Amino acid sequence: MSSKPNTVTVIRKAKFAAAHFLRLPELSDAQNLERFGPSSNPLGHGHNYEIEVSVQGPVQEETGMVMNLKDLKIILQEEVVEPLDFKNLNLQVEFFQNRLTTLENISQLLWSRLSPRISALGFALTGLRVLESDDLFVEYYGGTDQLP
Ligand SMILES: [Zn+2]
Repeated sequence: MSSKPNTVTVIRKAKFAAAHFLRLPELSDAQNLERFGPSSNPLGHGHNYEIEVSVQGPVQEETGMVMNLKDLKIILQEEVVEPLDFKNLNLQVEFFQNRLTTLENISQLLWSRLSPRISALGFALTGLRVLESDDLFVEYYGGTDQLP
């Protein structure tokens, strides 16, 4: 049994519904509308966000798994769904007090929450996709210092 186990990427999805708006306080209503379109409406609008979390590693001989998917589900629930579901991201999530609630920034926030939790179990978060609709999403692979 000297051959190396195969490396597999496991992807788990999670969903949350949240409201947000895109506005810069230093711009006028007209300037915000020009830059962000209807997303600048200060009363906000909602998305059914979806995320896909990739964990890569060798298949463990004893378990036949990369990591226990039950553990990953709990982490997604605690770090993503519970803190963000049915929230207004601009008004109720501290990270966005001085950041735009763009998909790019949401991916940064989620990576910063998920990566340490997954690393603590001895595994590596290797990719994160955040979708706000079928035709708009971002992918983030973390900084080089976070790679295993
Ligand atoms: Zn939006």
